[in-house]
Amino acid sequence: MTTGSGLELDEVTVRHDGPLGPVTAVDRVSLDVPAGTTVGLVGESGSGKSTLARAVVGLDPLYGGRVAVGGREYGGRRAAERRGLGRQVQLVFQDPETALDPRMTVQQSIAEAAGAFVRLDRRDRARRVAGLLEQVGLDAGCAGRLPRQLSGGQLQRVAVARALAVDPAVLIADEITSALDVSVRAALLSTLRDLQRRMGFAMLFISHDLTAVRHVSDTVAVMYLGRIVETAATEHLLQGPCHPYTRALLSAVPRLHPGGSPPDGALPAGEPPDPASPPTGCRFHPRCPVGPDRLPGRDVCAVRDPQEDSGGRPHRAACHFPHLADVRLPQARSVLREENGAATAPSGG
Ligand code: ADP
Ligand code: MG
Repeated sequence: MTTGSGLELDEVTVRHDGPLGPVTAVDRVSLDVPAGTTVGLVGESGSGKSTLARAVVGLDPLYGGRVAVGGREYGGRRAAERRGLGRQVQLVFQDPETALDPRMTVQQSIAEAAGAFVRLDRRDRARRVAGLLEQVGLDAGCAGRLPRQLSGGQLQRVAVARALAVDPAVLIADEITSALDVSVRAALLSTLRDLQRRMGFAMLFISHDLTAVRHVSDTVAVMYLGRIVETAATEHLLQGPCHPYTRALLSAVPRLHPGGSPPDGALPAGEPPDPASPPTGCRFHPRCPVGPDRLPGRDVCAVRDPQEDSGGRPHRAACHFPHLADVRLPQARSVLREENGAATAPSGG
């Protein structure tokens, strides 16, 4: 990690104490979110997205790895050290009520956030709050209201205004649109993009909603059981996913799938495994539609842990057989037969 701007994560590892011992919820995650751009982080529930967000802002301790903001490294394992990031990195959650004091008006909440980091007199603070309300698309009339007098969408806008009051370098949005109606969601996403264009912050947009992710993200990273398994520019990832898990995720949203309908056999069977005892080799292999339980010649998947590798594509994918993820399962079988045939059968056919 050098003198980049925005957010850089290098081999970030986070452990929780589980009932049966430590659980590695985030396992050597490296990710780059340049200033003024958005990386969407997707993955099933329990894949470690929130743990990663919390560790970056210092709410959970780092077990290993480094975090840098604006080229400055915050490598300390101690959470307190990274809380020194203070205004640099702001986190907004799904549930805005938890971030807002129910007894404070909107004006007071935002002014408090702005005042905590920036020395401003009363009049400047009021001016700043009014400006922020306008920027997040709330009318000035909201300023005097209490949280319970606002809708979910309005509350989330207040939470965003509060986070942006300190002019952060990085905004982490963890499922912030998940509790909102579709139309409210789209409006908030547009606002976020506008704000980013104006303010230039780097954004890590965490969501299991691929439609929302597509709306705001330049790049998408797919997380599975604590690991990033695929990273690519948003449209590359959506149009030609390399990793079988990404394909499975996309197939659950037919509207996003280029062919209109999911590819055969792509949905992963069963629940994600317990991160307390991840599978050997590729941690997706027991559920993989083109893995060792479904296809011959895939033993390596159960043995060797694939590293994220560009493999000459505009993607980085942690899969031993990423090329076969691009074709339907029956086709994958025939490709494999050809490969095996080429190696074993006598020539002449
Ligand atoms: P996501 O946000 O992707 O749903 P989380 O980061 O919340 O995933 O959880 C990742 C894993 O870490 C899960 O297995 C979860 O049970 C575990 N986990 C999360 N928070 C804690 C905690 N405070 N203590 C113990 N285990 C936790
Ligand atoms: Mg979460």
